[in-house]
Amino acid sequence: MAGKPFLPDHIRDYIASVSVRESDLMRRLREETAPLPRASMQLEPAQAQFLALLAQLIGARRTIEIGVFTGYSALAVALGLPADGKIIACDIDEGYTAVARRYWKEAGVDHMIDLRLRPAMETLHELLQQKKHGWFDLVFIDADKSNYEGYYECALELLRPGGLIVIDNTLWSGRVTDPAEKDVDTLALKALNQKIFADSRVTMSMIPIGDGMTLAMKR
Ligand code: SAH
Ligand code: CA
Repeated sequence: MAGKPFLPDHIRDYIASVSVRESDLMRRLREETAPLPRASMQLEPAQAQFLALLAQLIGARRTIEIGVFTGYSALAVALGLPADGKIIACDIDEGYTAVARRYWKEAGVDHMIDLRLRPAMETLHELLQQKKHGWFDLVFIDADKSNYEGYYECALELLRPGGLIVIDNTLWSGRVTDPAEKDVDTLALKALNQKIFADSRVTMSMIPIGDGMTLAMKR
């Protein structure tokens, strides 16, 4: 879920007016997703653009996305990858990802995106069984929060040194700041935030964009 925005509306509107460069196709995908009950799970345009910039900054070619939904973030990243770039895209929902596939095809990036429809942990374990350690440049984590720590650990093994993990929803609408919040998702995110903060295997930063995005670069 995208959660409550942390910036006042007029600041968000200003950022959107001078910083968000959303293509017509991406806008159409966002408009088609908007009526869905879970539309708020979609990345904000500013976040998707930031993620694509990060991918380009680190010269990413081989990437993994955990949590595809209707394909907005994968589309943003794919459009910024070099021609031989690849995304292994993990999701469990056929309906949402059918929308994603349609837009990826229209954008001409469908050949770059390898959608694996099964629990993401299975796909990550399979990659590790195939000895893909150190193989990937970027892992974007944006699916079920209770598995985030497992995804993070697998990502650290799958990334090359200098590779980047981007984790969405790490501020969880601010619920991570509330000691009274005891639901499993909030507890999982609080524990993971603490763990990454103390983790000497990564160089990290928590960015208050969207619902909070944490960057963790493998050392
Ligand atoms: N990145 C997307 C939003 C992802 S929403 C965007 O920018 O639009 C979270 C997605 O995680 C949903 O599509 C849901 O089906 C998927 N998901 C939930 N549990 C999962 C699991 N165990 N393995 C893989 N995907 C999962
Ligand atoms: Ca999210």
